Amino acid sequence: MKSVINFFKKLSLTQKFFLWILNTTFWLNFWLIVFVFFYLNHSIKNTYVKSVSQRLGIVTQELYLGIFKPVEEELEKLSYLLKFGNCSEETIKRLSFLTSAEISFSPYRRELSDNPLNFSGILKKDGKIFLAKHFPIKDTKGEIQGVWDIKINLSPYLKIFKLFLSRQNEGPSEYFFVIDAETGYIVYHPFFKVISIKAIPQRVERTAYLELTKKHEGKIRYKGLAFETGTNTVKKKILVFKEFKPFHWIIGVSIYEDKIKDKIVANIWNFAKSTIFIITAGQLIFLALALYVINNITQNIKNVSKQIKKIVIGEVERIEEKSLEREDEVGELLRAVNELITSIEALKDFKKLIEGDETLEDVYERMAKTIKKLTGVDECVIYEVSNSKNTMKLVYPYKEVNLPCKMDVFIDANLCRTKRTAHLVNGFRYPDICKYFTQPDKYFHLCFPIMSGGNVGGILQILLSKASLQDKNEQWLKQLISKVKHYIKEAEPVIETKRLMHALKESTLKDPLTGLFNRRFLEESYEHIVSGILRRGTLLGILMCDIDYFKQVNDLYGHDVGDKVLKTIATELKNSVRNSDIVIRWGGEEFLILLLDIQYKASLDVAEKIRKRISEVRINIGGKTLQKTISIGVSEFPVDTEDFWEAIKFADIALYRAKELGRNRCVRFTPELTEVENIE
Ligand code: GH3
Ligand code: MG
Ligand code: MG
Repeated sequence: MKSVINFFKKLSLTQKFFLWILNTTFWLNFWLIVFVFFYLNHSIKNTYVKSVSQRLGIVTQELYLGIFKPVEEELEKLSYLLKFGNCSEETIKRLSFLTSAEISFSPYRRELSDNPLNFSGILKKDGKIFLAKHFPIKDTKGEIQGVWDIKINLSPYLKIFKLFLSRQNEGPSEYFFVIDAETGYIVYHPFFKVISIKAIPQRVERTAYLELTKKHEGKIRYKGLAFETGTNTVKKKILVFKEFKPFHWIIGVSIYEDKIKDKIVANIWNFAKSTIFIITAGQLIFLALALYVINNITQNIKNVSKQIKKIVIGEVERIEEKSLEREDEVGELLRAVNELITSIEALKDFKKLIEGDETLEDVYERMAKTIKKLTGVDECVIYEVSNSKNTMKLVYPYKEVNLPCKMDVFIDANLCRTKRTAHLVNGFRYPDICKYFTQPDKYFHLCFPIMSGGNVGGILQILLSKASLQDKNEQWLKQLISKVKHYIKEAEPVIETKRLMHALKESTLKDPLTGLFNRRFLEESYEHIVSGILRRGTLLGILMCDIDYFKQVNDLYGHDVGDKVLKTIATELKNSVRNSDIVIRWGGEEFLILLLDIQYKASLDVAEKIRKRISEVRINIGGKTLQKTISIGVSEFPVDTEDFWEAIKFADIALYRAKELGRNRCVRFTPELTEVENIE
C-alpha cells in the first residue's frame, strides 16, 4: 500500500492527470457497456416477443378466415336449403355429396341441447373434429318434429392448417402448438404425440392451458423447470399464447430463451459497435485536449516556481513586472507572491527599526503608529502589565485624556480579560464582552495580548470608530486581526529583551533595600544632570544626609530593625522632595539628595524642612515606636564650586560640621569650613 502511495507521490501533475482521465474513461465505458447490454437485452427481447404476438394474430386470423368462416357459410347455406327445399332422402344425399357434410335426421330430443334449435359448435367423435349445426323440422301445424343434424368434418381443413402452422416457426428456437381448452386435448403439436395436455406435467403448454382458465392471455415467462422431452436439461422459456374463441382453442408459441440469445447478442453488438466507436473517438479527442490543457497549466506552474526560486537565491527581489500583467489565475498567484514578499519585508523592516530603538517607549510608539498606518484603524493604545505587582499602565499614547479602560484595571490587572486569558478580546464580534471598556457607544475594541516570558506583558488595544465601520465585514476584520498579530509577534521578542535590559540596568543602578538610586547611578548620569543645570542656568542643591546614632539601632534591636528604619527613612526622604529631584543611597545610612533647578540659597530651607519631617516620623518596631533624627550638610552647585564632585565633598564637610555641632541639624557649607578642616 505504502509503495503504491509513494508511486503516486512521485508522479508529475501531468501523469497524475493522465491517470485520472484514464480511470474516469474506463469507468465511463464500463457503465456504458453495462447499460447498453441490459437495456438492449431487455428491449430486444420485448421486440421479439411483440413480433411473435403479431404472428400469432395472423395465425388466428388465418384459422378464422381459412376454416371457420367458409365452413360456417357452408352450414348456413345447407340449413337454408333444408328449410325451403324438398327434403327427400334423394335431395339430402345429393346435398351431402355436394358439400361433404354429414346430414342426418334426429327426432326431437330435448336432451340434445339446452337450446337445440340454435346449437352450433364443435363436436368431437371418433377422434375427428366436426363443426355441427342443428336445424329444426316443423310439421304443417308448426310443431317441431325433429332436427336436421348437420356436421362438417374439419379434418381436411385442419390438415392444411397444421401444415401452415408448422411453417410459421422462424427458427429452431420456437414452435407453434394448439390445445383445445375445453377438453385439454392437443390439437396440434410438432413433437407431442400425447392426446391430452392433462397427462403432461410441467410444460409450457400446460401452463398456457392453466393460465387461460385463469383468463391470462399473452406473454408468460415460464419460471419453473422446463424439461425437454427425453432430456433433463433445464431451459428457460418464453411463452406467448392467444385464444381462438370460435373453437375455444389455445394457439401458442414456445420460445427457448437461450436460443434467441445469439440473436440478441448479435443485435447488441451491431448497435454497440457504432456507439462505442463514436464514444471512444470522442474520448480520445477529449483526452488529447485535456492533455494539452494540463500541459499548459503545469508549464505555467513550472514558470512560477522558477521565478520564486530566483527570489530565493536572491537573483531578483520581486516577480518581474511582465508576468504580473496576466489577468488569469497565474497572474493572481504571482501578484499574491509579490504581496507576500512586500508584507514580509515590511515586517522585517519593522523589526529592525524597533530593535534599533533606544527605549521601550520608542518601541511602543513605533508599533502603535505602524499598526495604525497599516490598518487605518482609529486608535492604537498600548498598556504595559507588571505581573509582579499585578498592575497595568498606559505606555502609548503618553497623554490620554479619555482612557479607554476604567481605572480599576490599572490597579488590578487581572480584571482585564486579555491579561487574564492571554487571548484576543474581540469587542467587534461581542460588543459587550468587556465591562471595563469606557467608550462602547463610540468604538469597538480589539485587545491583543503582548506576551513576554510566557505571561501577558502588555496589551495592544485597537479602537474602531463605529461610524467608519459601515462597509466593513468579517473578512476585513479577519485580515486586520491577522496583520496586527503578525506585528505583535515580531515585536514580542524585542519588547521582552528591552524590558529585561531595562530591569537589569535598574538593578545595577538601584539599591535593592530602599529602592533608591545608588552611587553608580550618579557616576553614570551626573554629566547629564550637570549639563542640564548649566544649560538652564539654574542651581543644584546638594544635601548630604546621615542618620544620627544609627549604630545604636543595630546594637539595641538588631539588623532587621535597622533595615526597616533605613527603608522608612528612605521612603520619607523620597516623599519629602519633588518628583524631579534625585534621592541616592550614598553609603550605609547616608543619603544624597539632589534638588534640581533650586533657587539661590533655598537649599538650606529644604534641608531644614526634611530634617524636621524625619524627626517627626514614628517608626513602629514590634509594639514600640522609634524616632530618629538626621543631620544634613548643604552645598550648592555651581555656586560653591564649578566642580560637581567638589560640591558633593563640600556638602559632606558641612555634614561633618553638623555632627560636630551636636547632630539633628542642617549646616550650609561655607569656605571657612574647609579651613577648619585643613587646620585639623
Ligand atoms: P553618627 O552618624 O551619629 O556619628 O552615629 P552612627 O552610629 O550613625 O555612626 P556611623 O555612621 O559610624 O554608623 C553607621 C552604622 O550603620 C554602621 C553600620 O552598622 C550601620 N549600617 C550601615 N549600613 C547598614 C545597613 O544596610 N543596615 C543596617 N541595619 N545597618 C547598617
Ligand atoms: Mg555614617
Ligand atoms: Mg550616622
